Amino acid sequence: MKEIILIKNGELALKGLNRSSFEDKMIKNIRRRLAPLGKVSFFKCQSTVTVYPENEDFDFEEAVARVGKVFGIAAYSRAAVAPKEFEEIKRICLAYFAESIYGYKTFKVEAKRSDKRFPLKSPEISREIGAVMLENYPFLKVDVHHPDLTITVEIRDKEAYIRGNQLKGAGGMPVGTSGKGAVLMSGGIDSPVAAYMMARRGLELCAVHFAAPPYTSELAENKVKMLTEKVAEYAGRVELYIVPFTKIQETIRDACPEEYFTVIMRRLMMEIAGVIAQKHGARALITGESLGQVASQTLRALACTDEAAAYPVLRPLIGMDKNDIVDIARKIDTFETSILPYEDCCTVFTPRHPNTKPELEQVKHAQAQVDWQQMIQTALEDTTVEVIG
Ligand code: ATP
Ligand code: MG
Repeated sequence: MKEIILIKNGELALKGLNRSSFEDKMIKNIRRRLAPLGKVSFFKCQSTVTVYPENEDFDFEEAVARVGKVFGIAAYSRAAVAPKEFEEIKRICLAYFAESIYGYKTFKVEAKRSDKRFPLKSPEISREIGAVMLENYPFLKVDVHHPDLTITVEIRDKEAYIRGNQLKGAGGMPVGTSGKGAVLMSGGIDSPVAAYMMARRGLELCAVHFAAPPYTSELAENKVKMLTEKVAEYAGRVELYIVPFTKIQETIRDACPEEYFTVIMRRLMMEIAGVIAQKHGARALITGESLGQVASQTLRALACTDEAAAYPVLRPLIGMDKNDIVDIARKIDTFETSILPYEDCCTVFTPRHPNTKPELEQVKHAQAQVDWQQMIQTALEDTTVEVIG
């Protein structure tokens, strides 16, 4: 039996004139995600994209799992292809559900006939398919309001499709349709979630991680790579920049007032991330900050950080509670990795009494006691980059 994957566009269907380019981007992203599984071709029609695998042994389960992580998709499902001949449609329908049907108690049939030349009208198709299902699987009951299984038969131009329940897509907009952003990626719970959320709004990502060896270990760096890999399952290819930050942090510790350690460190992170973003073509910086979560995430502290950023700082978690963030981290499977106990550079020189209401002018004055440019330059020169996903 020939099988395909049917994909319903999400929000991109609303984008008017841009729609076609949005759709093309989504298809490109799906193609890339499915490439390791074999050759596939695509067919666009109205707000549905049909994926035709070309090899016999195509791994549908894996394909469906991958499609479920591509943004821009509202719903999707596997479907059987039938010729536009009603006896064949009935036969294939019975065969297609022969195994899975035992997991359901109630069902209904919906027919969609976009080819009006097809001899049966939609209600007749539904009725007849329903009857043949009941005859062959007598334990089934019809429930038109809340069925366990909805069988949909679509009569299209060239062929008919038969499918069961649709799966919910990842939503959002196709990665790449909103430009590029650089996410400041720590090894914690928040930043991978922030990355996921902005990729879902169509941003293509690169990631910047600040490492402070030997205060932070290679294990901590590997953790960030693992997290970036998880994010890349949704965001597609992500270039991960690792910036050596030790010298700068030691200098902050030695030359700046302790109450401003964190806010100065964050300003320097922003400055460096801004340079990387610019080279990369990214026009936004993304962080996992959430208002009031820690001393560096008060309004005043955020204002001090923003002033050092060359691009808008996007903080998708700003109004979220930790519990809600954790729920998303579990959903995207980053949580277990995030809680592995390795040091982050932020936690290495945590001040005992951070100032939660830093004044920008005082922070700038404290920061200006050191000439950072050479250190920033060296850190940028020694930055490594790895392509992930
Ligand atoms: P997370 O849970 O993401 O680690 P956090 O709770 O540790 O965040 P902070 O340490 O205050 O919070 O960091 C706030 C944000 O700053 C992070 O979400 C991340 O975007 C950025 N950040 C912190 N440390 C680093 C780092 N070592 N490299 C890159 N970005 C970082
Ligand atoms: Mg945080």
